[in-house]
Amino acid sequence: MDTRMEIKRRTLWKGAGAAALAGSVLNAAPARAEPTGTVSLRWLGTNAWEFTTSEATVLIDPWISRFRTGTYKEGEFDPETKIEVYPEAIDEHVGGADCVLVTHGHYDHICDVPYVARKTGATVIGNESHLNFLRAMDAPEEQLAEVAGGELYKFDGFTVEVFRSSHSAGRTHKTIAFGGSWPGSVPPRPKRINELLEGGSLTYLLDFGGVSFFNAGSANFHHREIEGIRPTAVFVQPGGSHTPDYIERLLECTGYPPYVIATHWDDFDEPLTEPAVEGIRGGVARMRERVEAASPQSEFILIDHLESHDF
Ligand SMILES: [Zn+2]
Repeated sequence: MDTRMEIKRRTLWKGAGAAALAGSVLNAAPARAEPTGTVSLRWLGTNAWEFTTSEATVLIDPWISRFRTGTYKEGEFDPETKIEVYPEAIDEHVGGADCVLVTHGHYDHICDVPYVARKTGATVIGNESHLNFLRAMDAPEEQLAEVAGGELYKFDGFTVEVFRSSHSAGRTHKTIAFGGSWPGSVPPRPKRINELLEGGSLTYLLDFGGVSFFNAGSANFHHREIEGIRPTAVFVQPGGSHTPDYIERLLECTGYPPYVIATHWDDFDEPLTEPAVEGIRGGVARMRERVEAASPQSEFILIDHLESHDF
């Protein structure tokens, strides 16, 4: 362990101890487990994250191709956008992986998963609908692990706990973009982004021997499902305006984690190889303010495209 890592570790413990203390005073929450190794976290844009330890690599929602959809450009979003996969881009930024976690079926989360699965041989975790769409896009059947929420799985060097969740809603009537799911059979191969249904949402607690991360693919979560988890770091994202106190409640029910990491904040029409451009202008600053107000002991972490942070 070099000096830099010792400093990081000390910082981690200061935060963890303070948060655990606050938790024990407020609601007798359990203290966080003692970390046993280093986890390097790298941002691949959107909600795509790579976790690497000396033993394992895990990917969440690895979407690298970033074909243009106009999602964040006023009046330019095209729901009929053709799905494209760019193997060269994926090969440039994704090496190996042991496990791929899918949070939901939207295009900006799932389109590259079949290629990544074939390339890496990783176990792919998702629900029945997500996996049926992946099958339709030629994902290798033998690597697909169907979950429903509630599972706790052990892998070499990490565990994955799965929670039921919901996607963030929008507009007047709380609609979900490309809502619905596809259980029971494999759909026709999706060609356009509006054919990829959300399919229900899952959230994940990923634990590398005491250094743990809670990730949701959209700005929503099921409070009663995750109440009492104590991750080292939790991801937050802009949006969630239909979820009351989205950030404040998320931090509360995860015990005010030492670290809060911004995710899914970039305009993914813009290149991954350049510094990230905000999808919702001012979204990051507002997130930071809310996190600092709700959990002053937490460190707000903003990682740029392709940059890493060691935990
Ligand atoms: Zn989504």
